[in-house]
Amino acid sequence: MEADHPFLSSLESLGDYDPDSMPVEQAHRLIQQSLTVITEQESVDLRSALQRTLASDVLSPMNVPPHNYSAMDGYAARFDDLANAPCKLKIIGSAYAGHAFEGRVSAGKCVHIMTGALIPDGCDSVVMQEHVRIDGSWVEIGAGHHRGENIRLAGEDIAQGATVLTRGQMIRPAEMGLLASLGLSEVVVYRKLKVALFSTGDELQQPGSSLAAGQIYDSNRYSLFGMLGELGVEIIDMGNIRDDVASLKAALLEAASKADVLITSGGVSVGEADYVKQLLAEIGEVVFWKIAMKPGRPLAYGKIGICHFFGLPGNPVAVMVTFQQLVRDALRLLMGQQPKPIITFQAVSADPIRKIPGRMEFQRGILSQDENGRWIVHTTGGQGSGILSSMSKANCFIVLPESQGNIEAGYTVQVQPF
Ligand code: AMP
Ligand code: MG
Repeated sequence: MEADHPFLSSLESLGDYDPDSMPVEQAHRLIQQSLTVITEQESVDLRSALQRTLASDVLSPMNVPPHNYSAMDGYAARFDDLANAPCKLKIIGSAYAGHAFEGRVSAGKCVHIMTGALIPDGCDSVVMQEHVRIDGSWVEIGAGHHRGENIRLAGEDIAQGATVLTRGQMIRPAEMGLLASLGLSEVVVYRKLKVALFSTGDELQQPGSSLAAGQIYDSNRYSLFGMLGELGVEIIDMGNIRDDVASLKAALLEAASKADVLITSGGVSVGEADYVKQLLAEIGEVVFWKIAMKPGRPLAYGKIGICHFFGLPGNPVAVMVTFQQLVRDALRLLMGQQPKPIITFQAVSADPIRKIPGRMEFQRGILSQDENGRWIVHTTGGQGSGILSSMSKANCFIVLPESQGNIEAGYTVQVQPF
């Protein structure tokens, strides 16, 4: 490893660094160590902010709610009157949401008020409609009230100046609504992460065209497109590149010049036409190229200049599993987000599971609860890394540690719902 590969040199000092068989946990750590968060920011209109990442904390410019409002339909009154209930109060007007009662309510009087209406001056409590009896322009109110009942106080949800959202938060529908509720029409976000994508393989054909003998459809670019779409990155789709050194080299260099991250599929195993790893070593740096995981053993990670490179396997299931286990969190970190904690819990395996010790496995499972509320997991059947229907049927991974062997039905396993 040459001196112009500082990251690789720093890895050499780690005693257990083995690029030829990287445990999943260590691969995680190595990737995370080499990532630098995007710093460029821009201000975007709230409607364009979905899936973007906040570049600074958002402080509330106002109290929410901005004033005191009624939480119920009923009668706004003075607690000093209600303290002596049962009592009879004179109705002097109405207050509706968006139409306040103008004027002050004095002793012995009340205002018919609707949910969401401003509390009239002089009032400090709202008696629910269901708890009164109307007698012409009077209401009879029974005992048992407390000051401030049925009122949403100004600033009760969010006080002015409070931190509402923190830097690194991805904006989802709830955050869109929250920002709007504060009257904010623009937010400062990190620029979008640019992710280039291509498939490799002379056998690949595009959906929509017919297949010649020996051809298969390129499914990886579509599953990747979908998974990237959920993250809100800018996708640079470079299509399918032939298994030819010159074309691949040109594509790698072009992607590295345009994108923050390049994700490819296929061509990283050790077959004769698998040039990707070899080219990466030539034009960039290879951090590791094999990972002790199934599916997904050939997985190259490295850099071409400042572009992060993930050379995913060709097999369609392996593409989805390696993306979900290793790439997704890396992209979130680059976008300025904190990766979400991975939820893993125990379930009883309803089926026997075949497993050879040596690699961490992510088998596809279908998780459900039995009549006692106990979590039960079935395997989806054949676990070949080309059986993409297993990903479609599954709602969880059955996560089996490296050293694990075969498992009998009825044993407890770790599951990761998705
Ligand atoms: P490779 O790593 O290129 O040797 O590919 C491993 C297996 O995955 C081969 O059977 C390929 O035909 C298949 N494969 C590679 N790329 C794709 C793709 N984009 N879509 C579907 N299958 C693929
Ligand atoms: Mg190939």
